[in-house]
Order: sequence, then structure tokens, then C-alpha cells
Amino acid sequence: MDYMSQKLVFVINSGSSSLKFSLIDSKNYKKCLTGIIECLNLLNTNVSWKSKDVCIKNFYLKSYMNHEEAIRFILTEIIQKKMNVVNDIVSIGHRVVHGGEKMKSSAIINKMIIDNIKELFCFSPLHNPVNLLGIESAIKQFPSLRRKNVAVFDTSFYQKLPECTYLYGIPYIFYKKYGIRRYGAHGISHSYIMKKSAEIMRKDLKSINIISCHLGNGASVSVIKNGVCLDTSMGLTPLEGLIMGTRSGDIDPSIIFYLYEKVKMSIKEIKNLLNKKSGILGLSENTSDFRNSEKKYFFNKKAKRTVDIFVYRLVKYISSYFFLIAKKIDALVFTGGIGQNSVLVRELAVLKLSSLGFKLSKKFNNENGLKNNFRISTEKSIPILVISTDEELEIANETVRLIK
Ligand code: AMP
Repeated sequence: MDYMSQKLVFVINSGSSSLKFSLIDSKNYKKCLTGIIECLNLLNTNVSWKSKDVCIKNFYLKSYMNHEEAIRFILTEIIQKKMNVVNDIVSIGHRVVHGGEKMKSSAIINKMIIDNIKELFCFSPLHNPVNLLGIESAIKQFPSLRRKNVAVFDTSFYQKLPECTYLYGIPYIFYKKYGIRRYGAHGISHSYIMKKSAEIMRKDLKSINIISCHLGNGASVSVIKNGVCLDTSMGLTPLEGLIMGTRSGDIDPSIIFYLYEKVKMSIKEIKNLLNKKSGILGLSENTSDFRNSEKKYFFNKKAKRTVDIFVYRLVKYISSYFFLIAKKIDALVFTGGIGQNSVLVRELAVLKLSSLGFKLSKKFNNENGLKNNFRISTEKSIPILVISTDEELEIANETVRLIK
């Protein structure tokens, strides 16, 4: 096998119903394996994976496979039997969404780190528990690498947010006593985008100034000045900010009181409404899949309304962040499933931003920047880039850095 002499990092991105995995060469950062197990704990758990020699799509595994079984399957059936590279794995990198204030950067996993991740279940109930399941399963399946597991936190990227952007306008004691503040999310992706933008713009990381828009099922905007994130649209949890697949983003908190007092909804129902039934799904009254609304934009009222509201909120954030870096801006960057693929969203958004100095090239936008060194803007415009995000690579980088 080609991989035999390599030192490999096993990267695990464990979600509630899916587990993304990859094997990355720790020397040249090439991917030897990428894959995803979907429908965990649901009917028809299936796997898709790709290595140099094999490409498998939606292969049925069993029903109701759990996280531990999933990691065991990847280890024994793919890494061992098909690739025969188990002994080449030297470290394991895990994505962890919430690290709170204590986890300022990535860390080698020990009992204290695990306790911290558990403590933060309350701020990230959809993510931290399943991130931990991935960690515990990996430790069980790879006992010899026990001290070679690294947690990479989405929140670490926001450790230098100024007080004026991370504090809410509620009594200060709630921050001091309960840690209620803005923590941000998607930090691993924004960090990758920042580094890649610096490389494309040939700028030193310490002097890069960008607005990074991660537009996927979850969506957020971050503004970065001199390589440091100054503000971001997600808050205490990933519910704040942009309109998302099923999340509402910003709302007046009084809506919650109204739903509770007048509509007689329970807190659990309201939480479910705002997290799982709102956003693109709620506005389109159809699906959270953005492609559906985009396709029908020019002839369906609900689809038009959905896309227009999504774009309006996005433009509102971009323009309010613009003043933080203004004339020093190096690029406006789009990433994520929508950001990388939606010609329409970029066109509508940039049109509204034209007075700030942004102008799209129709041709390069239609090509998603693929044929013009990531650029989709005209010569005279502030550069606008489309970059495919790579959270796995960022996690591998951090893992190698720490294990060294
Ligand atoms: P992500 O969470 O980054 O995987 O992005 C998922 C979102 O990207 C979903 O809402 C998809 O509908 C959307 N998406 C994927 N491909 C496209 C496309 N070609 N045009 C518009 N949206 C897309």
C-alpha cells in the first residue's frame, strides 16, 4: 500500500446523526481517506467513503448504528481490512463545538478536558454530547493512542473578541456568574478560510483583513482584522445571527414570552421551533434544503421570500462588519454549501453591497471562482473570493502541532 510508511492523523467530526472521518498524512497533509456515516441512531445507517483506490456511496450498514459501532466499523472494515494502515495512525483529532472560556486553544484530551466538554453541554446541547461520544468511542477503539487524542474547539477562534462584542446588554452578573456571553461557532472553518485567504492574497497572516461568510445548513459571518476575529454572528449558542437551514437566527426575545404566555407553547416546544422548524424550512414552508428555494426563486412567492430574507440578513451583517476594517479590507469570502455553490445568493448579496465597493464578475461568479484563482469580482472591485472550506485539514493541522 502507498500509505504504509506514512504517519496518519485520524480526524473525527462527530455530529448527532452523522460522523465525518478522514485520514490525513501528517507530513504533506494529503487526504488518504474521507468519508461519512449518516443516519446514526436512525433507520438505514449508511456509509460513503473514498480512498485512492475505492469510492463507495451510500452503502447500507444496518439500522440504528451508534457512534461507538460507527468508529469500530471505520477502524476494522475500512482502515484495517481495506487499507491496512491501522499501525500508521499516530494521532486522532476531534472537532468539539463549544470550549467555553476555559478552552482558549486546542488541547490534548485528558480527564479535565472531558469534564470541561461535559460542563458545556448546557451551551451546546446539540453538539458537545455527540462530540464527546466520538471522543470516548475513539479512546475505546484505539487504546494505544489514549494520550494522542486532540480536541479542536470551534470557539477557540473567538478568544480575542473584544468585550464590546462578546457581552450582551444584560446585567453583568449573568456573565460573571453563569458565563452568559457570545462565544461564536464555526471557528474551525473561519480559521481555515482566514489562512487560505492570506495565502491567496499573498498576505502575512498577521495583517489579513477579511469578512468570512460560512453559509451552509448552519451559517455565520466573522470579521477578521490583522488575523484576529473581532466579531461574529453566532452568540452564546449557534442559534444567533443569520437565517439558517432550520434555525431562526436573530429574533426579538419577546417572541419567546409571547409564544409561552399567549400561544401556550412549552419552553421545550419553543426551543424546538427556533432550532429545528424555523429558518429556510419555516419560511419556505417546504424544506431546509436551500437548493429548493433557489430553483424556484423567479416563479414561486414563498421561495423568493425565503431567499430574499436570507440575503437581507446576510447583507446586514456584512455591511455592519465592513466599518470595522473598511478601507483595509483584503477580501469578502464565501464558503459552505450555499456560499460555495449559490450563484444567486452571491449575486443578490453583492448587488446590495455595491455602494461599499463590491462588484461581481458575472462570468467568474457563474464558475464559482474555480477558473479564476478563487476570485469572482471584477478588477476594480474589492476582491470577492469563493473558497471551499476544509475543517478536517484545520483539525489535522492542530492535532499535528500539539502531538509534536
Ligand atoms: P453545508 O452545511 O455546508 O453542507 O451546506 C448545506 C446547504 O448548502 C444546504 O442548504 C444545501 O441546500 C446548500 N447547497 C448545496 N449545494 C447547493 C447549490 N448548488 N446551490 C445552492 N445551495 C446549495
